[in-house]
Amino acid sequence: MIVDQLGRQFSNLRISLTAACNYACTYCVPDGKRLLAADAELNAEEMIRIVRLLIAAGGISKVRITGGEPLLSPKFDEILPAVMQLGLKDVSVTTNGQLVPRKADLIINSGLRRINVSLDTLDADKFRSIARSGDLATVLKGIELLRNAGLKIKINMVPMRHKNEDQILPLLDYCLQRGIELRFIELMNMGHLQHSALHDTQFFSMQEILDLISSRHTFARADAPFDSTAARFEIPGDGFFGIIANESEPFCRTCTRLRVSSNGFLYGCLSNSKSYDLREVLRLPEALALAKLQQRLHSALRDKQTVSFRGEVTVMKFIGG
Ligand code: SAM
Repeated sequence: MIVDQLGRQFSNLRISLTAACNYACTYCVPDGKRLLAADAELNAEEMIRIVRLLIAAGGISKVRITGGEPLLSPKFDEILPAVMQLGLKDVSVTTNGQLVPRKADLIINSGLRRINVSLDTLDADKFRSIARSGDLATVLKGIELLRNAGLKIKINMVPMRHKNEDQILPLLDYCLQRGIELRFIELMNMGHLQHSALHDTQFFSMQEILDLISSRHTFARADAPFDSTAARFEIPGDGFFGIIANESEPFCRTCTRLRVSSNGFLYGCLSNSKSYDLREVLRLPEALALAKLQQRLHSALRDKQTVSFRGEVTVMKFIGG
């Protein structure tokens, strides 16, 4: 087990299956162009081997399959069932939900228990202005399919000033009525937002979210696992919601996340663009690969921030949001 001075270790792996996405969300890409696969993306077999090696070398116990849009990649059909067989404590998927109706059988039959669906609004026009693609009704249909199959669903919403902050309460009601936990993600200063005024003008803080919710609901802080990124709140009798408050309540000191990009680079911190090429590790026999990987993990753990989230020019879809 590799542990740093703050007692942090890597236990949560996020693996980006592809950088390609069928959306072009305003907070993710600047120009409205949909995203293409990165050069030399790993194939399914290579990705599965990396996950196996990281379990053995780094003590990874939880894996989240993400992207880009993971369901867009043909590799998803092979990787999800394979990762489900690795004996992990937890496997989850983050998706924008657009392809869920097409992939519902595969997802349900894989035995997956948890899934996060990103949804920033229940208003079809706002949906298209934020995602710049896709269809809201299809996402809602996908959510119902998964809910009916008994999967535990979380919905991720990025509230933005003058864009969708009026959707905070409708989305919360939608989720509470369905036993879904809504998680608000404070707008992160990632990618193109690093060089634009957009982050500061659109940033909607944890306190502002809580103020808005308190106009309708009574809630109290709830327990969350120590390495959770979300502050959790309970609305007694109605359910829970969470806020991933990267800026208002940074969680760097307890962060256990490790990311592998779709082209095989290891990232220890979202606020640090330093990365380590794992393709050379893939060329080595098992014992040497494990030793090399441990060196890489030591370096990646040193890249973690300790205090507050700075953000980076790295685009989320490359390294797995
Ligand atoms: N395509 C999948 C999806 O939409 O869920 C997975 C990848 S996406 C990059 C993962 C998550 O990152 C989404 O919930 C998205 O809202 C979030 N995200 C991307 N850029 C962000 C930013 N600048 N600030 C906050 N959240 C961001």
